[in-house]
Amino acid sequence: MNKFSIAIHGGAGTLVKGMMTTSKEAAYKASLEASINAGYEILQNGGSAVDAVEKAVTVLEDSPLFNAGKGSVFTADGAHEMDASIMDGSNKEAGAVGLISGIKNPIQLARKVMDNSEHVFLGGDGAMEFAKSQNVKTVDEAYFFDQLRYDQWQEIKDTDSFQLDHSKSKDHKFGTVGAVALDQNGNVAAATSTGGMTNKRFGRIGDSPMIGSGNYANNKTCAVSCTGSGEFFIRGVVAYEVSALIEFKGCTLEEAANEVINKRILEIGGDGGLIAVDSEGNITMPFNTEGMYRAQHISGQETQVAIYK
Ligand code: ASP
Repeated sequence: MNKFSIAIHGGAGTLVKGMMTTSKEAAYKASLEASINAGYEILQNGGSAVDAVEKAVTVLEDSPLFNAGKGSVFTADGAHEMDASIMDGSNKEAGAVGLISGIKNPIQLARKVMDNSEHVFLGGDGAMEFAKSQNVKTVDEAYFFDQLRYDQWQEIKDTDSFQLDHSKSKDHKFGTVGAVALDQNGNVAAATSTGGMTNKRFGRIGDSPMIGSGNYANNKTCAVSCTGSGEFFIRGVVAYEVSALIEFKGCTLEEAANEVINKRILEIGGDGGLIAVDSEGNITMPFNTEGMYRAQHISGQETQVAIYK
């Protein structure tokens, strides 16, 4: 059996250790494990990296603990606008959606854009119209309500600030979600899904659905899924930058990811992290914040789940 591997994240940010109780930590870890196991099982059965990352992200979207699908943060208008993207490293096909609402699993809609449309990125009403034609599962606004997210929004609602889905003083939970995988056929894929940033302006789109910024996959190099302050990740073209450092500078996966997260993105003021897998199944998960919800499983090894450094 060829080597295969998968990694997932549930967001990076300033997690204040004191705010994390044992039971909360256990709940986060259980959700991360459910996600990584679901993706791993697909790879183990010979399934594709694209199916594995879509499935792993779907599980995280269904958990209210993370800022994607159920549990998405509130916009400045008190709504939920979600972004997601998926990329297949075997053929560099990609699908992305932005500014969508009422879709239970945005990552599944991004997959449909990749598979069933001529386009890569659909936004707003056009994406919603496409969703209807694809029989994607919809839910009403109440499905996305979460008391903690609401409280986070209330704290900064009448200010101009917008933030990662945690507040530095009182962090509870946060987390754009993502997955990267290498399958038994040597193909890599990446998927990322988010509710964005708390109190973001109506119409704001982050890095998560932007191919090359928050998400990227190329069999020649690696697959990457990012989390952090999207504005910086867009300007840093972070996901592609990791791939380019491997392709054009001969860096290893770890060197490339480390250079981008702990140097280049920091230089422009960006906080966050990423997960990446290369075409040999190596995994790296650097972050320049206090923590990042994450898990990995390389075939023949144990599953690893972690939150802090
Ligand atoms: N990158 C996401 C965004 O800017 C936020 C996050 O990673 O939590 O929309």
